[in-house]
Amino acid sequence: MKTRHPAGVPAPLSADEWESRARACVPADVWDFIEGGAGEERTLAANRQAFTRARLRPRVMTGTGESDPAINVLGRRWAAPLAVAPMAYHTLVHPDGETATARATRAAGVPLVVSTFAGRTFEDIAEAAEGSPLWLQVYCFRNREITRQVIERAQRAGFEALVLTVDTPRLGRRMRDVRNDFRLPSDIVPANLSAGTGDYSSPSAHSRTELDPRLDWSVVEWLRSLSTLPVLVKGVMTAEDAALAVAAGVDGIVVSNHGGRQLDGGQATLDVLSEVAAAVDGRCALLVDGGVRRGTDVLAALALGADAVLLGRPVLHGLAVAGEEGVAQVLDLFVDELTESMMLTGTPTVADAHASLLAHPGAEPVVTPAPARMPAPVPLVERPAASGPATLRRERLHTSVCDPVLDTMNFLNEVTGRFPDAVSFAPGRPYEGFFDTEELFGHIRRYVDHLSARGATPDHIRTTLFQYGPTAGVIRELIADSLRIDDSVDVAPESIVVTVGAQEGMLLILRALFRDARDVLLVASPCYVGITGAARLLDIPLTPVEEGEHGIDCATLEAAVLAEKAAGRHPRAFYVVPDHSNPSGTTMSRKAREELLALAARHDLLIVEDSPYRLVSPGRQEPTLKSLDHERRVVHLGSYSKTVFPGARIGFVVADQQVVGEHGSSLLADELAKIKSMVTVNTPALSQAVVAGALLTSAGSLVAHNEVPAKHYGDALRVTLEQLDRQFTAAGLPERGVTWNRPSGGFFLAVRVPFDVDNDVLLRSAKEFGVIWTPMAYFYPGAGGERTIRLSFSYLSHPEIEEGIRRLAAFLCAETTPATERDA
Ligand code: PMP
Repeated sequence: MKTRHPAGVPAPLSADEWESRARACVPADVWDFIEGGAGEERTLAANRQAFTRARLRPRVMTGTGESDPAINVLGRRWAAPLAVAPMAYHTLVHPDGETATARATRAAGVPLVVSTFAGRTFEDIAEAAEGSPLWLQVYCFRNREITRQVIERAQRAGFEALVLTVDTPRLGRRMRDVRNDFRLPSDIVPANLSAGTGDYSSPSAHSRTELDPRLDWSVVEWLRSLSTLPVLVKGVMTAEDAALAVAAGVDGIVVSNHGGRQLDGGQATLDVLSEVAAAVDGRCALLVDGGVRRGTDVLAALALGADAVLLGRPVLHGLAVAGEEGVAQVLDLFVDELTESMMLTGTPTVADAHASLLAHPGAEPVVTPAPARMPAPVPLVERPAASGPATLRRERLHTSVCDPVLDTMNFLNEVTGRFPDAVSFAPGRPYEGFFDTEELFGHIRRYVDHLSARGATPDHIRTTLFQYGPTAGVIRELIADSLRIDDSVDVAPESIVVTVGAQEGMLLILRALFRDARDVLLVASPCYVGITGAARLLDIPLTPVEEGEHGIDCATLEAAVLAEKAAGRHPRAFYVVPDHSNPSGTTMSRKAREELLALAARHDLLIVEDSPYRLVSPGRQEPTLKSLDHERRVVHLGSYSKTVFPGARIGFVVADQQVVGEHGSSLLADELAKIKSMVTVNTPALSQAVVAGALLTSAGSLVAHNEVPAKHYGDALRVTLEQLDRQFTAAGLPERGVTWNRPSGGFFLAVRVPFDVDNDVLLRSAKEFGVIWTPMAYFYPGAGGERTIRLSFSYLSHPEIEEGIRRLAAFLCAETTPATERDA
């Protein structure tokens, strides 16, 4: 880097050093205005964290030589894939403001996006830029005339593109500015807006009165009617909006969350980039901003599909420290760092930056494959046996043993054990009133009679019950019969594998379907921990797809699939609990099921359907995905834990997919059985006999077998909802932001609360109020669910439910009472 620092002190060596240097030059409230984000600044922080998480995969011996960071965007050559992001009032940190910035961008050969709220006139800025590209950031005012005038003035000054900001129906709640009651100094004014068009001294107040909160995509057409300049939209954060932007005919999209200054709690821009890139699919220019602080960050963004990045705050840092010179040095720093990282990764040009440059492109998979690098050698057994009992080191065990997913249930059990008098809405266990020890013997007897009626000799029956058995199970015909009777699912017994609970089925399916680190499992989120845990054990990356009130939304899922594909990964399967899901209680509509199957066909995706609560729920049920599946896209998991009893540990997988290879074809079930032979050898015959006997009591129908339990659980759900309606409402909780959903069956429902819940809050609830529940965050493979709790009502009697909800209401009242009222 050239050393041309004017102050005689060494130039800062990184964007972070520029930032600390700048802080000393800028008044505190102005610093807060520039640096601050909305709300708790979670999104602000997420932007930078996303880049910090990204890991590059250097390729060596590529013969690259010098890398060239130059690119062409909208017909112009840029010296590097960088431009200066639109930021209001550069004059806040340096009297030359945007003219100094423009001189520096000209020197660096990159564009400057000038804000509608620039502190210097467009004409002055254009003069300083000397023909170097200038773009205009456009805010749409309620009074469109103002916008029109701004655009015409910029166009006259020679600006080359319009960048419409679309994420600002009003300014985000920027707490630092609220606290500081931030006003612009009197000499800071928008140089390109005529006086009398508003009071600009409070940016947030101004945004509320002047900016048009009702924009829709037709505004793109309106801009086109005003000017022939290319139109870009800035502030797109989803594939859906990117697709709409492309359909509206934009020339470019800037993925941006306004530097974390608008919606707090939104995703990091880097995390949504591949989703947007997939939707754009090269049909317009794609830029991104937010949190870029190093050359490697730029490279990561390019790898995920961006054509270029916009630099924001670092430019103002340079400007604050050393005016034009400072900006020039910051830009040089980024160009140098980028060029260096391109060379070190074997990337000759920007066009060569592909997703394969990143170890985990895009949103970090929650479950990551084991590191390729071997851990430092640590003795497996720390101490030799001679010196005492062996001690194992945790870091030498598989990483899953340290995974919180595998710990959550232990914590719940521990809390339940410590507070035996608490009412617990935590366990998703069946009601024990249905269990009768004597019945077990009857079930086995009935199965033995069944075998003998079908011609089995006593010796054969003895072998069946006592010996190792066929890996795929001995009750497959009975299972196939019950699927036909209860679910209209017609599958051959050969496509069924009887497993030790659905849990083993999950493990087998994942082991069979996932081959390399690029194969990804998508899961509806929040999600049953059994599948996340199994993926963790097998080092299978998974990508959560957020569900809505009515379960998974196919557009969201499709965007996630596209994003995975764009990032060079292979979405193999999508796991979903379509009926009365654990944990949230949601049920997919018939239409959503059909859409899901169509989506699976479009993207060659398998669906893993897990539906343990369907037949223990009251009323008519939606058809299973498997019953609607005419293309064998659904692998169906069955569990008898709720419909018979969990102690039997019997489940099954329906895997009727053909597997073809060099040596002929087989069923996926055959392959699962091979794997099972090395996991549990076979499912215990005695347990299979008991479940078979239970099926035979009701002529093979689980629906008939579960008439009473389904009514019981339906009643428990109804009582829980009645108590919530009555007691929560009487306690005024809805007014305090407590809400709950209304599932139509299953064992669970979700209560949303206006505060974050974690293990400490749970402990307080158990200790001080005698009520236990599950933090919903346990079920989110990524972030999420912090303000939701899961209630399970299946295990409790009606009086226990009533008492439990009373305690829960008292607890939530205490938690939502402001400290001042509590003290009073
Ligand atoms: N899937 C879901 C969604 C569940 O909630 C449960 C049990 N809590 C299971 C599977 C477990 O099934 P099994 O007992 O057959 O392993």
